[in-house]
Amino acid sequence: MTEAERDPIFILDGPGSMAALRRWLTLIRDQRYPELPDDKLDELRLIATELAANAIEHAAGPRVVRVVSCSHGNVIVVQVDDASGGLAPCRGRSRLPADRGRGLTMVAGMAEWGVCYHPDGKTVWAAADVTGRPCGCLSAAS
Ligand SMILES: [Zn+2]
Repeated sequence: MTEAERDPIFILDGPGSMAALRRWLTLIRDQRYPELPDDKLDELRLIATELAANAIEHAAGPRVVRVVSCSHGNVIVVQVDDASGGLAPCRGRSRLPADRGRGLTMVAGMAEWGVCYHPDGKTVWAAADVTGRPCGCLSAAS
């Protein structure tokens, strides 16, 4: 991971911030990953909005979305911080209606994901290979 630039963050402010989150991800792509094709941008948008929706529905704020990448630019990691440490997201199991709650299964089809707990809450992260050029960073993305 490079520390050369500050990692961009997006503050989630309720369900109304989803459209702004999608626009922000497009901006991040244009500014930092201009070679990223539209289909990979779409994947990142799906991953980020799913993790963000989980944080808004199940976790306390402040909630922050961060996008980082490995130094090779092959692996992009979406991280969503929240202030709820005790409730881990469960893949494929949900208290939500049947048409919701499968999001993490969908995310798992596109990315590796996991949860890191820390004293202020947790970070749910998902790491996606966006170039198809293996660099060895994916399994170390957390
Ligand atoms: Zn890498």
